[in-house]
Amino acid sequence: MEALRRQRIKDLLLSDSFGSKVTVNGWVRTKRGNKNIAFIALNDGSVIHNIQVVVNVPEFDEELLKLVTTGSCISVTGTLEQSQGQGQSVEIHAGSISIYGSADTEAYPLQKKGHTLEFIREIAHLRPRTNTFGAVLRIRHAMAFAIHKYFNDHGFYYIHAPIITGSDAEGAGEMFRVTVLDPLAPPLNEDGTINYKEDFFGKETKLTVSGQLEAELAALALGLVYTFGPTFRAENSNTPRHLAEFWMIEPEMAFYDIHDDMDLAEDMLKYLIRYALENCSDDLEFLQKMYDNELINRLNSVLVDHFIRLDYTEAINILSASGTNFEFPVKWGIDLQSEHERYLVEKHFKQPVMISNYPKEIKAFYMKMNDDGRTVRALDVLFPRIGEIIGGSQREDNYDKLLARINELNIPEKDVWWYLDTRKFGSAPHSGFGLGFERLILFVTGMSNIRDVIPFPRTPKNAEF
Ligand code: ATP
Ligand code: MN
Repeated sequence: MEALRRQRIKDLLLSDSFGSKVTVNGWVRTKRGNKNIAFIALNDGSVIHNIQVVVNVPEFDEELLKLVTTGSCISVTGTLEQSQGQGQSVEIHAGSISIYGSADTEAYPLQKKGHTLEFIREIAHLRPRTNTFGAVLRIRHAMAFAIHKYFNDHGFYYIHAPIITGSDAEGAGEMFRVTVLDPLAPPLNEDGTINYKEDFFGKETKLTVSGQLEAELAALALGLVYTFGPTFRAENSNTPRHLAEFWMIEPEMAFYDIHDDMDLAEDMLKYLIRYALENCSDDLEFLQKMYDNELINRLNSVLVDHFIRLDYTEAINILSASGTNFEFPVKWGIDLQSEHERYLVEKHFKQPVMISNYPKEIKAFYMKMNDDGRTVRALDVLFPRIGEIIGGSQREDNYDKLLARINELNIPEKDVWWYLDTRKFGSAPHSGFGLGFERLILFVTGMSNIRDVIPFPRTPKNAEF
């Protein structure tokens, strides 16, 4: 089979089997030369670098070579040779070339170099063909792999939380509805409201905003667990850090308090960044050269010191004393805005910051109440350029306190009876957090818009394909 004989460019670039016969398949980045000799830069996606194919033009059919244009897909068989040219160590001297698919030079949208990221976003179907997106996708893969490896090596079990959920305790108001009812003629109750008993699941269902509650159920049986799946938020925030569909990693740990939770968050983030530095250096160097000359320094810099740990109240005091004129005025009780988070991380501490003990009013019902009765054991991890990368907490494990909070917030008990049950039967202290996968990829790649680190971004008014 042809496919079995093909070699990856990534491997060939490291090979010294000069004189051996090789076959590569890939997409033409450029072709240059004259009537005697041509140089094809070929890329097969295995690595950021191209391999140079040297063509002795008179030996080849002129019509065939005309089809070798930027964007076309070809197969080359030839001999591997040490390269005389600059910037590469090996090249292929072509013996035969065949065309898998040509690409009309007039029509191919990526014919020229130097397109803006905005333009490339419009052609999401061809975006993987660009060097930038190839690098991002390879790094994304490496990070997903490293996440599973980290948890597996630390004794965590991977739990698949449902994507369709019947519980909307968490995300009321910002969830996507899942229904098979006819929007023009839904079955109605006597009072005119929609009768969801006739819907597919016999009740209202939504796309999940988080796998946390289900992860908690598993943690209270398996000890250490994590989810890693898609989550959905119908919030209308058109920012460079929000998607309507994003991936989240949610570890949940029995017998962990908030300090253990922080230790895990810091250790895991450092592991992932170190993994990227050790395994993705070619792609990181490319992104650094193209977009962000501080990238690799910044990645190294977060590995050096312990992350700063401070209370929400201390954070408010620092912001109040800063003399900075924030758009959202600072006072105890406010939810920290991106401008506040970035002030703390980028200006004040100049390193990642973990804030805990937030006012209960701005955090979710399941977070453990502190003895002061007004703050909860919430945890946010703030990163340079990103702001919040992780949100988590120690969970309320006391049945009476949890029930009181649920009632206080008017959450219908019939929606969370199963969650309450875990505090009734064998409750245990436990903690967890959610790491936004795309926010991690933003940080690691140095890209500035979250739409550029996911293959098919879903944002308000945008779901072309
Ligand atoms: P933010 O305040 O930034 O909107 P959040 O507090 O609503 O985030 P959480 O519910 O705590 O977010 O979710 C946990 C993590 O998921 C966040 O720390 C972030 O990394 C990521 N995240 C949350 N919302 C989004 C989104 N719309 N797009 C991409 N990642 C997100
Ligand atoms: Mn949060």
